[in-house]
Amino acid sequence: MVFQASPPVAAHHTNHPRNVFDVLMNIAYYISSAIIFLLIVGGIVFFIHCFVLCIQLALRKLVVFLQRVGILQALEERNKKMVLKTLPPLVKFRAHESVLYCSTCAICLEDFKDREFCQILPLCNHMFHSNCIRPWLINNLKCPNCRTSIVSLA
Ligand SMILES: [Zn+2]
Ligand SMILES: [Zn+2]
Repeated sequence: MVFQASPPVAAHHTNHPRNVFDVLMNIAYYISSAIIFLLIVGGIVFFIHCFVLCIQLALRKLVVFLQRVGILQALEERNKKMVLKTLPPLVKFRAHESVLYCSTCAICLEDFKDREFCQILPLCNHMFHSNCIRPWLINNLKCPNCRTSIVSLA
């Protein structure tokens, strides 16, 4: 009976420090896991950051390269030509028609004469000589009178 009663007491004495040790080990395990997790996440974020920076740098170099080669200018020219094609057809100026919005071409500052070919810009309805507005629009997709862009039509 005496020998039977003693083992649980002994077990209790030996179990207690082991439990504390286990708890400490668990805490250490969780802390180290958290540190490793943070290191991995930090590493991934750092890697992604570097990756994005590299891509930005590469894109910048690519743009510089394309500009040097002239591809971007060619694309821009093509865009401008497309925009010019979307302009409404030319109209023949007729002095007796009152639908027109202005009587003077703002580019050459001359009055419109009968049967002259004119271009009316679609958004602001300003009118110019066809021969005056075409060279302007090649370099500048805005109305020379009011600066309204004509690109939104493209
Ligand atoms: Zn003109
Ligand atoms: Zn205008």
